[in-house]
Amino acid sequence: MLVHKITEVREKVKEWKRAGLSVGLVPTMGALHNGHKSLIEKSVEKCDRTVVSVFVNPIQFCAGEDLDKYPRTLEADEKLCTEAGVDIVFAPSPAEMYGEGHILSNDFLTYVIPPYFYTDKLCGKSRIGHFDGVCTVVNKLFNIVQPDFAFFGEKDRQQLIILKKMVNDLNIPVEIIPCPIVREESGLALSSRNKYLSDADKQEALALSKILFNIKNCYKKGITDVRSLGETAYAFLNENHSLEYLEFRDENNLEEKTTADDGTVVFIAVKINGVRLIDNISLR
Ligand code: AMP
Repeated sequence: MLVHKITEVREKVKEWKRAGLSVGLVPTMGALHNGHKSLIEKSVEKCDRTVVSVFVNPIQFCAGEDLDKYPRTLEADEKLCTEAGVDIVFAPSPAEMYGEGHILSNDFLTYVIPPYFYTDKLCGKSRIGHFDGVCTVVNKLFNIVQPDFAFFGEKDRQQLIILKKMVNDLNIPVEIIPCPIVREESGLALSSRNKYLSDADKQEALALSKILFNIKNCYKKGITDVRSLGETAYAFLNENHSLEYLEFRDENNLEEKTTADDGTVVFIAVKINGVRLIDNISLR
């Protein structure tokens, strides 16, 4: 069932809660693929009712990013959700979420700002304000849907860590369920932004997962020095890759590691022909 209005979702959820049913929420920006589907399936399995939100959230895009050209495929998204057993696809307009003439600057909107220590690194370094936008919209979605469980992918692991922190710090009564990264057989992590890649770009994009798998292999063989592990990446990079970061950080609080251990996550971001791709791997 496709719903555009906040009041309508609220009514439905109220009914479910009165009947004692558990509610799962899967927040997405649409252009759904098998990565999203794995989150949806987990929610449908775990919860009595599942809401999938499809909302390209303007306040998490920075100036010059792909807000206008971000793929929007609501009809196909609704079909995937219906087939997977989703109860509500919530697809609000920006005006429904932020008000008519939605004035999105933080002079006019109450924002949820995660701690600087978590956002001044990795993707937050180049995407100023991105995680403020994410935390604000996810907080709004939590208030609208009031789910018992919310499902997020490890594909966006910095986001996942920040949202866990938000839920903990603000005592939000939602349990966050992390879901593993879904990859193509080639190793490439599924992403809505893969649609921007040509076949040749896609070949180049394999470098990300190759670098991460290779680092994990080296770690499993006993190499723990982060500098040595990091240097193995260069064998997979060429002039078509613009490496934004390759960093080793703690899986809970994103502190930098100099010696890798099982609690280390390796994060990578690479631009290929102007398309920014991210991936990560836990060394556990
Ligand atoms: P997005 O629509 O890109 O905002 O993603 C919505 C949710 O799906 C986020 O929690 C993502 O981490 C998750 N997700 C996206 N791609 C994947 C993937 N390849 N594997 C697992 N989860 C994913």
